[in-house]
Amino acid sequence: MAQGHSVDDYLETIYFLAFPIGEYRLPDTSVPTLAARVAEMLNVSRASAGEMLKRLEAEGLVERGEHKEALLTPSGLDRAEKVVRRHRIIERLLTDFMGYTPAESHVHADELGDTFSDDMIDRIEERLGYPERCPHGWPIHTEREQAENLELEPLSDLGPGGRGTIVRLAEHDGELLEWFYDHGLVPGTAVELLRGAPDAAQFVVSTEHGEKTLAARAAGGLFVRRPVSA
Ligand SMILES: [Zn+2]
Repeated sequence: MAQGHSVDDYLETIYFLAFPIGEYRLPDTSVPTLAARVAEMLNVSRASAGEMLKRLEAEGLVERGEHKEALLTPSGLDRAEKVVRRHRIIERLLTDFMGYTPAESHVHADELGDTFSDDMIDRIEERLGYPERCPHGWPIHTEREQAENLELEPLSDLGPGGRGTIVRLAEHDGELLEWFYDHGLVPGTAVELLRGAPDAAQFVVSTEHGEKTLAARAAGGLFVRRPVSA
């Protein structure tokens, strides 16, 4: 979808860029401006991303940093955190209550956007019994998410012989998300990286479902926790 991203879509993307993990980190070689990164993540032109960022700036949700990068203001951050929390609660509504698969839930949650009021979201969360995470492992509470970011790393960073347990799945690419589920690469799965240095194009992991070969993009979208050493 190249057109029609809402203010909330932009805030969500800037949020992930502000708390980078895996696919949201800057590539090692080039450091493009944040506007370019936002455009890339949302698959829109730099011009339309630039236009929207100006609008967010005018609304006091975004401010420019030292290098003209877009930063969330306190009110921008507040709203972005609401957006991601809402998305995760709706996903749980879709899986737990409506029987959708986890991969479907992400797509439908995006479609629903801001259909529900804040009060409705609070009530849904209560009825669901205050789930800790969305179906893809992302903590409902953004404070917890941000703290946990430091404990996780993409599978692609483990290095050959590295072990870990999948905690979260990147959900920003619907097709990739479905691929993860088709191959049993889901939260709670133990993995051992057999082949693939951090900048490799291909990775091979061993799981309880056998060996899997992953493209770099897939390996960068699985966030794992290394075992705690005794
Ligand atoms: Zn999710």
